[in-house]
Amino acid sequence: MERVRKFLEKINIKGVVREQEPMALHTSFRVGGPADLYVEPISIPECIETIRLAKECSLPWIVLGEGSNVLVADAGIEGVVISTLRISKITIEGTLLTAEAGTKVDSVVKASCKAGLRGLEFLSGMPGSIGGAVWMNARCYGSEISEALAQVVYLNELLEQKTLHVSHLPVKSSHNHDEYRKSTMEGVSQVEGFGYKKSPFQGKPWIILKASFHLTSEDPRILEEKTQEYRQDRERKGHYLAPSAGSVFKNDRSFGEPAGVILDRMGFKGFRIGDAEVSPLHANIIFNRGAARASDIRALVDRMQEAVLKVYGRPLEPEIIFLGRWES
Ligand SMILES: Cc1cc2nc3c(=O)[nH]c(=O)nc-3n(C[C@H](O)[C@H](O)[C@H](O)COP(=O)(O)OP(=O)(O)OC[C@H]3O[C@@H](n4cnc5c(N)ncnc54)[C@H](O)[C@@H]3O)c2cc1C
Repeated sequence: MERVRKFLEKINIKGVVREQEPMALHTSFRVGGPADLYVEPISIPECIETIRLAKECSLPWIVLGEGSNVLVADAGIEGVVISTLRISKITIEGTLLTAEAGTKVDSVVKASCKAGLRGLEFLSGMPGSIGGAVWMNARCYGSEISEALAQVVYLNELLEQKTLHVSHLPVKSSHNHDEYRKSTMEGVSQVEGFGYKKSPFQGKPWIILKASFHLTSEDPRILEEKTQEYRQDRERKGHYLAPSAGSVFKNDRSFGEPAGVILDRMGFKGFRIGDAEVSPLHANIIFNRGAARASDIRALVDRMQEAVLKVYGRPLEPEIIFLGRWES
């Protein structure tokens, strides 16, 4: 393709640039066909240069963190996939921790705990990058990442660096988990612009470059204990038994119970299409049992949605993001 050739001729960065890179190597589902171009910039300026060049060559582009919340089509992705994973510095000034977008969530949790800073330990053991987690407003154990956010530096559509200063509304305490869960499932959040699995970055061609978190001082030993508890809970729930992308569907309060409970009652645990299998332990997780294709996983998602639609008259909303050349 002419546009790809032009991009390859002009790109001049230290990071990795590959043609026809299998996305199965870069997603937690371990499925997905090739991206026309795959770039791993090593710095924010290289990231900006990659996008500038993609635009100049009229190539579509997308940003990927750890690929732990996406399902990439077997036919791959058109244009440039820009991975943030090499942009991963962490800095700590007093109780303010700043992590570049590609930093793994778990590395940030470890660094904060080691520094005796509380506020992010609930994310212990969760796959993903800081950029992806902020984009998704990742949440677990009754807390969400936006609760600790101080500011986010991002690139807008004109490739200008902007800063979002995050406002926290003094509405209610997240320590009341039932109340908090109810509010976030309604899309109401304590944090302006954020909601249940929603952030101001969704639906915009913006790139999160770094995020800063306001944390509080705590004894590192207490934090270490907490992170172990969360990780062990994930292990017990079978999160790491096989490649997956975590929860397939969002919880929707109008259904009155979590998606996993609904799907379990419908008998989906262990249900299989090809090598795509609903986890025998949690009906809202799909595993790749080895040789699943993206189309098998998608067919299983569709089957689950159809079943819910039939009984409830409305479908569950997928949490995982479908990327690439899907037929429909
Ligand atoms: C075993 C397992 C357990 C999980 N448990 C949880 C859980 O408890 N809670 C939860 O919320 N999620 C969970 N997830 C899902 C996933 O880990 C999180 O949503 C994570 O935050 C996604 O980050 P990522 O870097 O992998 O994003 P990706 O999958 O790479 O990308 C997701 C989306 O974010 C966009 N994006 C990524 N980086 C940027 C950036 N820098 N700028 C702009 N857009 C960007 C991408 O374009 C894409 O649209 C789990 C996944 C697995 C595999």
